[in-house]
Amino acid sequence: MKYVSTRTDRSQINPSQAIIKSIADDGGLFVPMNFPPLGDLSKLIDLDYRELASYILKMYFDDLGDKLNIIVKKAYDQKFPEEVVKIKETNAFIMELYHGITHAFKDMALSILPFLLKASLEVNGDDKKVLILVATSGDTGKAALEGFKDVDGVRAMVFYPKDGVSAIQKLQMISQEGENLNVFAIKGNFDNAQTSVKDAFNDKEFNKKILEKGYELSSANSINIGRLIPQVVYYVYTYLRLVQNKKIKLGEKVNIAVPTGNFGNVLAAFYAKNMGLPVNKLIIASNDNKILTDFFETGSYDSNRKLILTSSPSMDILISSNLERLLYHLSDGNDKKVAEAMESLNKDKIYLWDKNYDDLIYANFADEEDVKDAIKSTYDSYKYLIDPHTAVAVSVYEKYKKETGDDTKTIIASTANPLKFPDKVLNSLGIDGGDDDFEKLEKIGELMAKEVPENLSALKDMEVIHKDIIDPSKLKEEVLRKLK
Ligand SMILES: *Cc1c(COP(=O)(O)O)cnc(C)c1O
Repeated sequence: MKYVSTRTDRSQINPSQAIIKSIADDGGLFVPMNFPPLGDLSKLIDLDYRELASYILKMYFDDLGDKLNIIVKKAYDQKFPEEVVKIKETNAFIMELYHGITHAFKDMALSILPFLLKASLEVNGDDKKVLILVATSGDTGKAALEGFKDVDGVRAMVFYPKDGVSAIQKLQMISQEGENLNVFAIKGNFDNAQTSVKDAFNDKEFNKKILEKGYELSSANSINIGRLIPQVVYYVYTYLRLVQNKKIKLGEKVNIAVPTGNFGNVLAAFYAKNMGLPVNKLIIASNDNKILTDFFETGSYDSNRKLILTSSPSMDILISSNLERLLYHLSDGNDKKVAEAMESLNKDKIYLWDKNYDDLIYANFADEEDVKDAIKSTYDSYKYLIDPHTAVAVSVYEKYKKETGDDTKTIIASTANPLKFPDKVLNSLGIDGGDDDFEKLEKIGELMAKEVPENLSALKDMEVIHKDIIDPSKLKEEVLRKLK
């Protein structure tokens, strides 16, 4: 498999090189030159999660070869993939993706990315160390820290918006142990963090300085193809489980509803569809930052607006990076058109696109009131708790059903454990949780009839290790300082 940039650089590179580089020299994102077919789905039905992951990853990362078997074994050594499907009502199936170590779906990809990166370096005979810069809206940061902790030859630095993550998300990051890790609060929002990181990537002078220190830059954000492809697996896996449980027939089309921020998760569903997974509509759910809803409705991507802080912070994003990949695929690889759109976004914060996606996509948003209603009604009906991100998707799915009357069976991605967002969850249920975050956790645990996981309750007594607060304009300076 070869990868090319979404923009005008025509070089074709190997999977391992795309994983290491993360971003193309022209600022574009790497995309596979074709979508390998899944083949006969009935032959995949008996595969466990690891086997299916090996099967799919080998098609995309063929130059890593048999290393992938070992990688997949190491990365998915936890029980979470087995718990993926939870069936709630006849036509909507909640796919719980949050059973990894940090309790958000980012674990599904970030538990494997470090291994992919190491193997990529080996394949290329590259003995440089890797410096991973991560901009996070809350969950990527912690999942990357866990994934890269004490991994040989890798240094990871995480940047989170100072007031833009939940209290639990923040505690998870600032208490992180690991010799090779740094965490910074950024004065600004996620977009500021992401833009500063992208700027560092594109800064030749900065890259030279990093190289002089023996490091090569790479990214753990979903711009990295090594993060995106592992996310394809759970859509296929969940579909096959539904077939196995006789909830759908083999070949029956399903809708997939995804709470969306940087467009990585839903793009993976789009890849699965292109590989032959029977998918009807992609239902793209946004919070009050409804730039994607507006885009899919009007064809105008207009980021001239203020970022709103919501109860689903991991979706508080205005520059949705992976949309660039969708546009590339939808325009049959019209890289010139994509490059022009991205240049316009950079310069004027807006671009226009012809609406060639109506058959594929339904997009809508849920405001704070909708989120509250979705959490409450889901709990009242099923005694089942969902987090605010998942609630955005549930609410938008309800809107979709009401508007279209489409009763196609639908997989809803549940992206975080409700325990990570105790304030909004309790508030939605009309429960006074008091002032103490950890008492709130206990309350939610009771409602879920589950023990609060040890690594969340222990946050209470963890030492704060990372105290740096920096201006986004100082990011490169700080990185160089820490590397000393
Ligand atoms: C990252 C995240 C999202 C958004 O996923 P994207 O791939 O950025 O669209 C949604 N929910 C949670 C809990 C997340 O951590």
